[in-house]
Amino acid sequence: MKLNIITIGDELLYGQTIDTNSAWMAQQLNANGWEVYEKIAVGDSKKNIIDALIRSMDSVDVVLITGGLGPTSDDLTMPTLAEFFNSSIVLNNEVLNDISSMLTPRGIPLNENNRKQAYVPEKCMPIRNKLGTAPGLWFNEKGKIVVSMPGVPHEMRGMMNDVVLPKLFEINNHEVLVHKFILTIGIAEAILAEKIERWEKNLPPKLRLAYLPSPGMVKLRLTAKGNNKEELEKLITQQVELLKPIIYNYIFGYDDDTLASAIGKLLRKHHLTLSVAESCTGGYISHLITEIAGCSDYFEGGVVSYSNIIKTNILEVKTESLNEAGAVSKKVVEEMAWGANKAFGTDFSVATSGIAGPTGGSKDKPVGTVWIAVAYKNKIKSEKFNFGNNRERNIIRASNMALMMLRNEIISEFE
Ligand code: AMP
Ligand code: MG
Repeated sequence: MKLNIITIGDELLYGQTIDTNSAWMAQQLNANGWEVYEKIAVGDSKKNIIDALIRSMDSVDVVLITGGLGPTSDDLTMPTLAEFFNSSIVLNNEVLNDISSMLTPRGIPLNENNRKQAYVPEKCMPIRNKLGTAPGLWFNEKGKIVVSMPGVPHEMRGMMNDVVLPKLFEINNHEVLVHKFILTIGIAEAILAEKIERWEKNLPPKLRLAYLPSPGMVKLRLTAKGNNKEELEKLITQQVELLKPIIYNYIFGYDDDTLASAIGKLLRKHHLTLSVAESCTGGYISHLITEIAGCSDYFEGGVVSYSNIIKTNILEVKTESLNEAGAVSKKVVEEMAWGANKAFGTDFSVATSGIAGPTGGSKDKPVGTVWIAVAYKNKIKSEKFNFGNNRERNIIRASNMALMMLRNEIISEFE
């Protein structure tokens, strides 16, 4: 069965709000065996909403809508659906009850706008909203299911989890979609594709392969569709086992793993500790590491040594090194990494020093120049990169590269 998602709101078309609703919905639907046929984003306009509905009714069995259900005059979804299905609008006392029991304990009086939200199309089944005032609307008309939910992401998620997904699962409980992500790093997409060409050609027809590249990484996604979830999972596992030896050195994790979580697993496994000394990345590496629950097992801490004084006072970077080579240099970044390992008493330390931009570059050291070092015991590895002239991307790319270098060093020492 086919399904469309319609997201409604002028803010989506202006680009002021990023449509995260349809992405989340598609993920949940996939996991429940539903594939999204089309996503349509429209503004707060009656005509455009109706056009999107007509187009969807022609091609799919189920339409899920978010947005435009609020209590104000710019929210048009409810009256538009009533008109579309030729339904009168009536007061629903259960909804009114829900709204007042949501507002009363907070001391908010029920005003005309709130009361308006208790009026729903007669032809729909209202869906209770435990997290807000706008009810969802479930229509089963003309042989199609149309469900309208609020745009506020957590309200939509509440309704999807409590009502919509379970009901859709009852309708389509015979097909499931299983995804498996294989996460690779340090190999370009084209080279990866060449390496696994034979494996890819021999994949069973039930499996689909996708390449999802991002800077420095390529995710491989295997998707299987069928009736028996366990069988599909087994099929995928078999293929992953065949793939592993072909690209063993490049796989850093699976599914929801991140580079930082994969490093965390390695450090924990080998009882190792880590510290960081960050200049141009300003704490972003520490943030990536500390996003992982349980990182206190291996992460001791870090220094954001942005100024030269902090580099010399806390990390014992030599003044001569700073004077002779400059802060963005092999010498200084290596001394930063040594200094962090010494200050924190850790096994591994990673350090960054660079020019994030947009100003501060020179002919010798243009914006985007970043030195990264990884220290372990008396060994050190350092490398110079240029990540371009966008400050935000520089910080992200330098941080990812630092983690990648760290991972390589841990693996070459311990795996
Ligand atoms: P509405 O139901 O149209 O009143 O939407 C309420 C709020 O939800 C909007 O101000 C947006 O911030 C947010 N919102 C609406 N649609 C989406 C969407 N597709 N993805 C993420 N947030 C959304
Ligand atoms: Mg809106």
